[in-house]
Amino acid sequence: MHLFALKYLVYYALVAAGMGLLFSRRIRRWNRNAVLLLAFFLLGGVIVVWIPQLGQGLGMHPSPMCSLTRLLEAGILHGVYPQVMVISLAVILALSVLGKKLFCGWACPLGALQEILHSIPGFKKSPNLSFAFTNWIRTYLFVIYIAGLVIYGSYLYGPINAFELLHWRLSYTEVVLGLGLIGLASLFYYRPYCYLVCPIGWVSWLLEKFSILGIRFNKGRCNSCRTCLKVAPCPSLQPLIEGRKGWLPDCTSCGLCIPACPKGALTFGISNLLFRKESPTQHCATRPGVDS
Ligand code: SF4
Ligand code: SF4
Repeated sequence: MHLFALKYLVYYALVAAGMGLLFSRRIRRWNRNAVLLLAFFLLGGVIVVWIPQLGQGLGMHPSPMCSLTRLLEAGILHGVYPQVMVISLAVILALSVLGKKLFCGWACPLGALQEILHSIPGFKKSPNLSFAFTNWIRTYLFVIYIAGLVIYGSYLYGPINAFELLHWRLSYTEVVLGLGLIGLASLFYYRPYCYLVCPIGWVSWLLEKFSILGIRFNKGRCNSCRTCLKVAPCPSLQPLIEGRKGWLPDCTSCGLCIPACPKGALTFGISNLLFRKESPTQHCATRPGVDS
């Protein structure tokens, strides 16, 4: 049986589950973690270790990161664009355009692992690192990688591609050290690998400007209680509710801020002005069931 598309069907199913929770406002930490656990189990190579026959459909190759970086490597160095990577990247980008970081937020196994670990209580959560700093590092790595390909013909993401660990074929020491480091950082910081290293995180952040769906903030409803900020794990909510414009930090569409708001000021819906006919205030003001 040809299982090629199975991984992509799972991507869409996980994102659909997430969108159902977001639109219905039923999103909670426990049901979000349940979807993320499924993402890690199905797409993080775990099920393939147990059932190797599923390797063709659910194997890590090509990983989200390789879909971009190995594709560019093949294109720049050899002038070829392997179909399997083109398709994988197209699916990831399509989901990221459909909604802000819907792939990263709901289907990526490495993102899921980091967020599940971050949600474990008992570890004092550190304030998020400055987004300007983390994004600078992420951008710098990408520029260095492109320069390395073009100038030296070398692939510089190799040693820091954490998806390699999810092939579960490196040595025990490498897996424990690599995942241990990311896991330890995740206990205190929200998605450190995504914000600091991952090129898919960087590209999907750029795409947020064009994403159709996302978190919407209705300023007219907000009473400035700041309850949402106490549950939001990300650096993106504060600039959003302060009305800052421009390039805001990544929002993973986790939706945890939505039920936290007692005034219903945060919703999930069409956030891109290109696709909206009415003003944000008009849209949210007519929503039934969320008025105080
Ligand atoms: S930024 Fe990279 S590691 Fe993080 S969720 Fe997205 S693809 Fe996965
Ligand atoms: S603003 Fe933060 S808490 Fe709200 S959905 Fe985005 S990532 Fe989650």
